[in-house]
Amino acid sequence: MVINLSQNRNLKLFKLISEVAQKNGQSVFIVGGYVRDLIMKRKVPTDIDFVTEGNGIELAKSVAQEISPSLKVSVFKTYGTAMFKHNGLDLEFVGARKESYAEDSRKPAVEGGTIEDDQKRRDFTINALAISLNHENFGALIDPFGGIEDIKAKIIKTPLEPSQTFSDDPLRMMRAIRFATTLGFEIENSSRDAIKKEAERMKIVSKERVMVEFNKIMLSEKPSVGLKLMEQAGLLDLLIPELTALKGIEEIEGQSHKDNFWHTLEVVDNISVNTDKLWLRWAALLHDIGKAPTKKFVPAVGWTFHGHEFLGSKMVKTLFTRLKLPLGNDMKYVQKLVKLSSRPISLIDDGTSDAALRRLLFDAGPDLEDLFTLCKADITTKNSSKQEKFKKNFEYVAEKIKEVEEKDQIRNFQPPITGEEIMELFNLKPGREIGILKEKVKEAILEGVISNNKQEAHDFVLKEAAMLGLKP
Ligand code: ATP
Repeated sequence: MVINLSQNRNLKLFKLISEVAQKNGQSVFIVGGYVRDLIMKRKVPTDIDFVTEGNGIELAKSVAQEISPSLKVSVFKTYGTAMFKHNGLDLEFVGARKESYAEDSRKPAVEGGTIEDDQKRRDFTINALAISLNHENFGALIDPFGGIEDIKAKIIKTPLEPSQTFSDDPLRMMRAIRFATTLGFEIENSSRDAIKKEAERMKIVSKERVMVEFNKIMLSEKPSVGLKLMEQAGLLDLLIPELTALKGIEEIEGQSHKDNFWHTLEVVDNISVNTDKLWLRWAALLHDIGKAPTKKFVPAVGWTFHGHEFLGSKMVKTLFTRLKLPLGNDMKYVQKLVKLSSRPISLIDDGTSDAALRRLLFDAGPDLEDLFTLCKADITTKNSSKQEKFKKNFEYVAEKIKEVEEKDQIRNFQPPITGEEIMELFNLKPGREIGILKEKVKEAILEGVISNNKQEAHDFVLKEAAMLGLKP
């Protein structure tokens, strides 16, 4: 089979690489994701991988020289690779490799090899396709493992024996699930069994690498596909046991609760329809993790999960630390949303007093819309009249919040009187009293005792300060 590259927007570049390789007496092939996506008629990646049976670094240097002598080539000697940027593309060159693996590492021993050797070491048949750029067969597709058939059949399959492939480099298990999720493919049965068998080997892979794949699953159209595959293989239990702990339904005295694991997957899919924000999707994934450790059956009341949002938000930090996820603002954002995830609903149950609405506005701040997106995704009841009722309730709370917001400007709350102003007013040095007075002002505004303006805050501070024995 020959791939027609005549209309390809990179044809000129491919011809140039072909010429340079010919001059150097080297072979050259396009490999990997670019070939896969080109054949699948997907948007092709901007990074293109080239393999040569020979020295990849040499080839990269001579191609770069031909394009422009001033092009900067980055060389990674240990891996025998070199890359440079050209026309918005990342072009990477590597010498064909033959690999063998040791038991305790995903870093193989490497020696030079043929294009076929190089294709053998690739993870899946659909990623093991190569297009020749050589003079004698420019555009010829080299498909020793039936990658084209597997693209047609939508199958993820390893070129070699699956257990060995996954044991050699366990990251491939996550990649299999990621490709199945993002491409909408099935993992072939023996590969699926092998992932189950080799799941424990995932421990030798760095968390950072695993999370790159996990986040690609989280950003896919329907993340539950990948999460289910991970669950079936035992990988989710290894990685995020807080989630698998939510599995199951218990029944006592004829009362049962929902299966919070399957509920969570639904919430993640729901939210993915409305947002591409990775960390908002993570908040959906983790919003109920506090439910397993707080679950209790209280006779005459039923199943309770008291304080699960608070505990859940604490668990977020432990989990992010373990998974080597960023511990800055992204984590704080997830913590905040998990902590507030039940607030809008409880507002409906407890009555929507202005004070409660102001507190929610204050606590959610700029993330209020995201909190509402989460709460809407959390409605998974199949009972359509209940669904309608819940949605109406939210609209009601949203409307009420808008009214309060217009009146009080709490969302991006800035104290109407600053610490410096308080110090100046009473001729104070920095100290405890300033904090106490500022907190009292904030509380008075949230409770509706005073309005959110300078004059009322000023008068209020004078009164409160007098009680602390302070005089202006
Ligand atoms: P995407 O761009 O969607 O991540 P990709 O296939 O281009 O997909 P890369 O990680 O850039 O993914 O890898 C490029 C190619 O290198 C793959 O197509 C595959 O042939 C090979 N490859 C990558 N990682 C592995 C691995 N862990 N084991 C074997 N081959 C791999």
